[in-house]
Amino acid sequence: MGIPVALGGGGGIIGLILFVAVQLLGGGDLASLVPNEVSSGGGSASTSDLRTRCNADGAIEQYNDCYVVKSYNEINEVWTARLQGYQPPRLVFFEQGVATGCGNASSQVGPFYCPADQSVYLDLGFLAQLQSQFGAPGRYAQTYIVAHEVGHHIQALRGTTERVEAGSRGADAQALAIGLELQADCLAGAWSALANKAGNVTITDRELDQALNAAAAVGDDRIQQKTQGQVNPESWTHGSAAQRRSAFLTGYTAANPTACDALLPLR
Ligand SMILES: [Zn+2]
Repeated sequence: MGIPVALGGGGGIIGLILFVAVQLLGGGDLASLVPNEVSSGGGSASTSDLRTRCNADGAIEQYNDCYVVKSYNEINEVWTARLQGYQPPRLVFFEQGVATGCGNASSQVGPFYCPADQSVYLDLGFLAQLQSQFGAPGRYAQTYIVAHEVGHHIQALRGTTERVEAGSRGADAQALAIGLELQADCLAGAWSALANKAGNVTITDRELDQALNAAAAVGDDRIQQKTQGQVNPESWTHGSAAQRRSAFLTGYTAANPTACDALLPLR
């Protein structure tokens, strides 16, 4: 979920790549997926394959990637209506590794957004592990992840990402980096509430819990505790579980992306 402005060059092994680019073309239903195939490496699934499969009855319940595409479309539908000049990011599914405008990435990076090619990269394996490894069950946990990455896209469109990079040469680099992440969490929360309000999607209490739980589950303290057995705040990049949960709630409660400006001391 990082924002790999500079992914370690050559760090990722490009293996089997499932490279699918999709975009929204009004309507927000799966039928609006546009075949815009980009494939690379060995195995690949085309967008038209995905569209055919995902438009079948029950596909969204059955296939996780179809559910993710549905969320992605719902997120873009709201932001397109709400934010002037908004253009949806590309959505790229990958496995193992992928070449991006920000360098090569392995699936160890997790889902991320690359400002250079304005694309959200989702490792489907990571999404499947959300429940088992991160303790973030429920499909809405995935919706939160997608909404967080699209939040980074909004930051790139607004020039926020660039301003953070410029500022990050100073002493406040870590605070700015964390602020950028918390703002993306907040934007995810604002989207959830806006979609709910507009009647695009009805979020249930259970789904809200899934999102809040997921935001906490990917907090730096939780991840460090799990992977290193200890917590080192000086190496945090995304904020604590409490901060991330709270950032999502800030956006959700306000139902307004403007409320998220306060989370990043820039401007
Ligand atoms: Zn992020």
